[in-house]
Amino acid sequence: MRCPKCSSEDSKVLDTRAGKAASIRRRRECLSCEHRFSTIEEVLREDLLVVKQDGRRENFDRHKMAKGLQRAISKRSIDPEQINALLSEILRRIENEYDNEVPSRAIADAIISRLRNVDEIAWLRFASFYEDFRGLSRFAREIVNLKGEGSD
Ligand SMILES: [Zn+2]
Repeated sequence: MRCPKCSSEDSKVLDTRAGKAASIRRRRECLSCEHRFSTIEEVLREDLLVVKQDGRRENFDRHKMAKGLQRAISKRSIDPEQINALLSEILRRIENEYDNEVPSRAIADAIISRLRNVDEIAWLRFASFYEDFRGLSRFAREIVNLKGEGSD
């Protein structure tokens, strides 16, 4: 597990406890820089397929979901743990709601509906990748609002 601060691969586990659903939460300390962070381990449904917009199916991949989010949160000061927690929550919801196929749009929808509480700029960026999702005009309004507030 890479340290979110210095990227060292070496960490020790300080504490382990059961998290929500079938997950295990571990508190870790980096052996290089002593930064403390949490990780969540969970059992993944191996049969979960993502149905893309063109109808193709591919195995669900949490890393891919995280990568899509990386683009939106780059250069924003967001606690990586918050993003981890967000991803876990979304994953749990998807696994509860879908049997073995989940539309890619439902994943984007779940991210969009939660990201706003984490960071508005990241939310706008992410949503703009899916701008046909609820129409450009709404996002244009949001951008005007944000500019008015002097954010970013
Ligand atoms: Zn470190």
